[in-house]
Amino acid sequence: SLSDRLQDTFGKLRGKGRLTEDDINTAMREIRMALLEADVNYRVVKKFVAECKEKCMTAEVLESLSPAQNVVRIVLDQLTELLGTTESKLVLAQNRTPNVIMLVGLQGSGKTTAAAKLAYLLKRQGHSPVLAACDVHRPAAADQLETLGNEIGVKVYRGDGKDAVKVARESIQSAVDGLNDIVIVDTAGRLQIDEQMMQEAVDIKNAVKPDQVLMVVDAMTGQDIVNVVSEFANRVDFDGVIMSKLDGDARGGGALSVREVTGKPIKFVSMGEKPDSLEVFHPDRMAKRILGMGDVVSIIEEAQRVTDQKDIDDAERMLREGFTMDDMLTQMQQIRKMGGLKKILASLPGGERALQQAGGAVSDEQITRIEAMIHSMTKQERAKPKTINGQRRKRIAKGSGRSVQEVNQLLKQWSEMDKMMGKMRQLTNGGGNSRKAR
Ligand code: GDP
Ligand code: MG
Repeated sequence: SLSDRLQDTFGKLRGKGRLTEDDINTAMREIRMALLEADVNYRVVKKFVAECKEKCMTAEVLESLSPAQNVVRIVLDQLTELLGTTESKLVLAQNRTPNVIMLVGLQGSGKTTAAAKLAYLLKRQGHSPVLAACDVHRPAAADQLETLGNEIGVKVYRGDGKDAVKVARESIQSAVDGLNDIVIVDTAGRLQIDEQMMQEAVDIKNAVKPDQVLMVVDAMTGQDIVNVVSEFANRVDFDGVIMSKLDGDARGGGALSVREVTGKPIKFVSMGEKPDSLEVFHPDRMAKRILGMGDVVSIIEEAQRVTDQKDIDDAERMLREGFTMDDMLTQMQQIRKMGGLKKILASLPGGERALQQAGGAVSDEQITRIEAMIHSMTKQERAKPKTINGQRRKRIAKGSGRSVQEVNQLLKQWSEMDKMMGKMRQLTNGGGNSRKAR
């Protein structure tokens, strides 16, 4: 896969004293491929790669990093900067009640879902939002919004369900009457750019003068994203973007295209169908995702949320002190109950494969055998499996009643996982801004 290719390229560069222009060209070829495969628009790719190359040729090389790490750092920094250097929070107008937020975008992009998620997010922040059902073209659209509104306990204003502009206007009055401080206007989209749709969005915008217009963009849109966002920028204009469906396979390259072509910030990413899956956009995470380097930070935060503290303590200790045989045994035992580490490993380039090898499908029987072998190791061997030479392997095989091949295989599995941990350590400690794994 692409991620493996990147890792391989950097693997080849690793250990060299200095980067030659050839090295940089090789790395840039892989990065170019990575970006294209992540659906970054080809023109944007061309420009980005040229800038990166320039930076690599001229940037100060940090001696604490390997040449390969230096390239990764420069590329990541560059990508992060282009995506927006700060977290793009939603800015509400202080002097206007209610604040009006309007969502626009193609049909199916995720507007209605995002409207509800945004309402839920604002509600949790202490606001009192109202949802305005201004998609009057599809009969089920208002019902969909109402269902979502009920789920999150947010009022939905439907009006007569016929005239989108009128519904929008009335929803503001309804918010005033109901002492709601925010109105979120859900609008209609078409499958393609369409004159009538654009005009209606403009009419609603003129009628309610939103404080923020957010365009919802499906992360899976591909190369065409450039045309779609440019059209909306020209016709309706918007203040920021919600990128939806990032829980899918899309690597999110569209985010870079959107930034580059419109200059508008990405404000939120939508990561699923549940109402709480709207997240503030983090450029650094998106940069790693686009380059296929695993969204380590997000995953660690996610792990923090869903797994117990012990898993996290374990993961942190493993990062700090190294991955021992005892850790491997624990992880194998936990692997089916979806331990934190499994998720983290699976998010890394090549991680899925390592997991498979390390026991993605281990049976209880296999675990018992592995347990026997690990228990036949000394404390020192378990802590430093690299010291287990041929002689020791024979002894362990004998002691556990397993074959030397099986011991070899176990050590290979450990080595795969240890490599993965190494990559993770690099990603969490390395790179421009150092991050702790928590
Ligand atoms: P709209 O036509 O722009 O209003 O789009 P909808 O909000 O109705 O979403 C279209 C489809 O995409 C629905 O089936 C949603 O459940 C789904 N969807 C929306 N956002 C997300 C997301 O972030 N992740 C996933 N997996 N599905 C989403
Ligand atoms: Mg809709």
